[in-house]
Amino acid sequence: MAEKNLLLTPAESTIDPPIVRIKPVQDILDLCRSMSFWPMTFGLACCAIEMMAVGMARFDIARFGAEAFRPSPRQADLMIVAGTVSRKMAPAVIRLYEQMPAPKWVMALGNCAISGGPFSFEGQYGIVEGVDTIIPVDVFVPGCPPRPEGLLEGLFALQQKITGKRWWPLPQKAVLS
Ligand code: SF4
Repeated sequence: MAEKNLLLTPAESTIDPPIVRIKPVQDILDLCRSMSFWPMTFGLACCAIEMMAVGMARFDIARFGAEAFRPSPRQADLMIVAGTVSRKMAPAVIRLYEQMPAPKWVMALGNCAISGGPFSFEGQYGIVEGVDTIIPVDVFVPGCPPRPEGLLEGLFALQQKITGKRWWPLPQKAVLS
């Protein structure tokens, strides 16, 4: 009899498999987190100007719930690496990332953050050629600089990565109705 119990599949069992009960809760948490990022107030070079612009009225990142830029890494869950990461700055970037509570995400904004950008050439020794070499990166937004719309597109990609669903732009039918 004991052997037969071991062969029960989840469908035959009287106890629901944990995943059935936990997954909707996880989905709700993922949705809430992806629609209410708290980015860190943190810029390294010219790409940071584009990051600032995305908070202004024309691009209005508040429409997507990510306007609450936080002055402390302990209050932030999204690091937007906007600009050139020098080797001198790299330890500070790592420290800030480690001070952010989990779950946390990182966006590499611009060619400098992705690969060193125009400062990446043979013989250079002062620039980190890709912030993903020092911390994990979730989304890469290319450009020198990327426009604010690029940052928003990166935000949508991050939301899709977390929830498994593309939320913006709204389907045309929803816009018209
Ligand atoms: S990618 Fe271009 S705009 Fe952005 S920080 Fe580097 S040089 Fe400046």
